[in-house]
This record gives sequence, C-alpha cells and structure tokens, in this order.
Amino acid sequence: MDNKLMLMIPGPTPVPEQVLLAMAKHPIGHRSGEFSKIMAEVTEGLKWLHQTQDDVLILASSGTGAMEAGIINFLSAGDRVLVGCNGKFGDRWAKVAQAYSLNVEKITAEWGKALDAEEFRTKLEADTNKEIKAVIVTHSETSTGVLNDLKTISGYVKAHGALMIVDAVTSLGATSVPMDEWGLDVIASGSQKGFMLPPGLGFVAVSQKAWAAYKTATLPKFYLDLGKYKKSADQNSNPFTPPVTLFYGLQAALKMMQNEGLENIFARHHRQMNATRAAMRAMGLPLFAADGAASPAITAVAPAGVDAEQIRSIMKKRYDILLAGGQDHLKGQIFRIGHLGFVCDRDILTALSGLEATLQELGFDSFNPGAGVSAAAKVLTA
Ligand SMILES: *Cc1c(COP(=O)(O)O)cnc(C)c1O
Repeated sequence: MDNKLMLMIPGPTPVPEQVLLAMAKHPIGHRSGEFSKIMAEVTEGLKWLHQTQDDVLILASSGTGAMEAGIINFLSAGDRVLVGCNGKFGDRWAKVAQAYSLNVEKITAEWGKALDAEEFRTKLEADTNKEIKAVIVTHSETSTGVLNDLKTISGYVKAHGALMIVDAVTSLGATSVPMDEWGLDVIASGSQKGFMLPPGLGFVAVSQKAWAAYKTATLPKFYLDLGKYKKSADQNSNPFTPPVTLFYGLQAALKMMQNEGLENIFARHHRQMNATRAAMRAMGLPLFAADGAASPAITAVAPAGVDAEQIRSIMKKRYDILLAGGQDHLKGQIFRIGHLGFVCDRDILTALSGLEATLQELGFDSFNPGAGVSAAAKVLTA
C-alpha cells in the first residue's frame, strides 16, 4: 500500500507531520533578517541538545561529512590517533583518518562487543610524550547495535590531554551525550537520525580545546573549514547557501524535542529498547549486543536458523515495515530494528506483531504466538 511504509531503521527515521509541513514552504533569502532569526534559534536548540555552552555548527552534508569535518579541522598529516573499531562506522573513521594521512592506531573489538575502555587507558598512559593527538570513537555503533562506554573512555582521554572526537550520530537524541560534563571536544551527528528530520544536515559541536587545536592544524580544507562556519554563525549566518527548507524543519523538530524534554526523550528510547529486547528474549531470538552494551537507538538480532534477509523481505512486502539488515559479513546473519527519533510505543508493538506474524509464516515455532508482544507490553506499561 502506498504511503504506509513504516521506517524501523536507524536512519532515515520517520519525520513528524508538523516537521514535514514546516518544510512545505518557499525558501527565504539566506542573508535575510528572517533567516538570521531561525539560525539564532536553532543554534540555541542545538546547544541545548548537546548540553553545551560551546559551538554547534551546521553543515549541508550527511553524517559522514560532519565526521570528516570533525577530523580534518583539528589534526595534521602524520598525527597519531587512536580509533575505536567495533563495527562499520568505527572502520569508516579509520579510513577517513587514513585518507588524510593520519597515523592511525586501531583499538578493535569483535563486532557485537563493546570497545574495552581499559585498552584506551593503557595506550594513553603509555604515551608519556603526548604523541597521541586525538581519540576517535563511535558512541552508538549502528551496524551492531552496541553502545560504547564513551563516558569512561572520554575520562581517560581528558586525563591524557588528547582531543576526544565522537560520532554521536545514533546516540544524540536517544541517550544523554553531555558534551561539557564529559569533556567531549568534537561531536558529529546527522539530521536523519535522532533529529526527526530528512537527511541533509550535518552537525559538528566544537569545544574550546578543539578550537585551540584548529589554530595549528594543517590538513587541507575549504568547504568543510569549520572556522568559516564559526565566523558566520557568530553573526547568525552561514558561509555558503544553507538548505533553507531543512532549517525550517530543524526549527520545528527542536521545538518538539524541547516540549518533550531531554529526560523524557531519553526515557522513551530506553523504554523502547528494553521492550524490544524483552520481546526478542520471549521469542527465543538471540540479541546481538549484550545487556549493558546495547544501543537505545537500535536492536540487532541474530535469528539462528532463519535467514535474516527473508524476515526483512516478508516484513516489508506483507506488512509495510522496513527493518535494516546486517552490513558486510553480517548480511543475512542479523536484522536490526531501529527505535530512533519519532517512534512511539505503538510503533514498537506494531513492528513486533509484524515480526511474530512473519516468523509464523516462516515456520519458526520456538515461541507461543503473542509472547513477544506480551513481553514488550509488560515493559512499556511498567
Ligand atoms: C548513519 C550513521 C552515520 C552517518 O552516515 P551518513 O550516511 O553519512 O549520514 C555515521 N555514524 C553512524 C554511527 C551512523 O549510524
């Protein structure tokens, strides 16, 4: 059926009607006073979301563009960096850093496991000459549904003095990412994830310490030169033509978030994560991420004996529910349920009912019909 496709993937995520309607307008001039007002308002909203007094800059880019900007503005060729690699996105940041001739040292964990914060501590403490210039970590590793222990890792980084550069693309807006409290120096994210917006905007938060590093960083940059964005943002403006209509949407989405409140937003994501995980357990479907290391934005499931791609295909064709598949070597091995952004408890129950019906059709009979939905409902109403 047209227009009924339900996005239960970790981006793009569903966009609320009031955000869609806010964008259904002609663009205004981006050098106008009206646009400056929007710019001022969304910048304040972004600082609120990042829990920071420092800068949050807005780019016309995907999340990768924001992350690339977060790396190249603060480092120089040959700089030694530690990159946490326990999934597709961690690997991507290692590749970006290598593309810019940084001296990359990977700290790895098996896909599905969290990074070991102690490995970062050991490396950082051994670096008495302070050669390590930055540590790059993906907070919520979307490819596996694992939440890395950013708070502990950033504590070690702060003690050492290197920059803490974070991919918070699927943690921002799902769980607390208190930039100032944790001492995070650079945070990258993208509009199509927890922001309840279509793709197209990238966000980079920058600490004072990162701006100090910017002054001596020599990697080449032009469009992604964050100094330009900062200079313009201080005048409530942009260095280049921004996607004006997405800014209307950002304004509406941040208002919605502020009405709901940070604590309520985080509680909703954690509740939906717990409900989804309880349902998988009740249905005998193994969870890919362990308790205590699970992302509040996404649940990855490794169904033994059933092809995950077959489940996804039936879910989409018959029930108009889109789940995400496994990436790289996990294709066919796992499916991923996104519960990020504009997702209500009803959406969780709907997706779980569709999953139960799909498994029934596939002859998967290790659970009593209704067991998953019932387990989820218990969590949602607790
Ligand atoms: C989606 C995502 C990104 C950004 O991907 P783009 O396609 O460039 O927007 C980066 N990191 C994580 C963890 C993501 O989930």
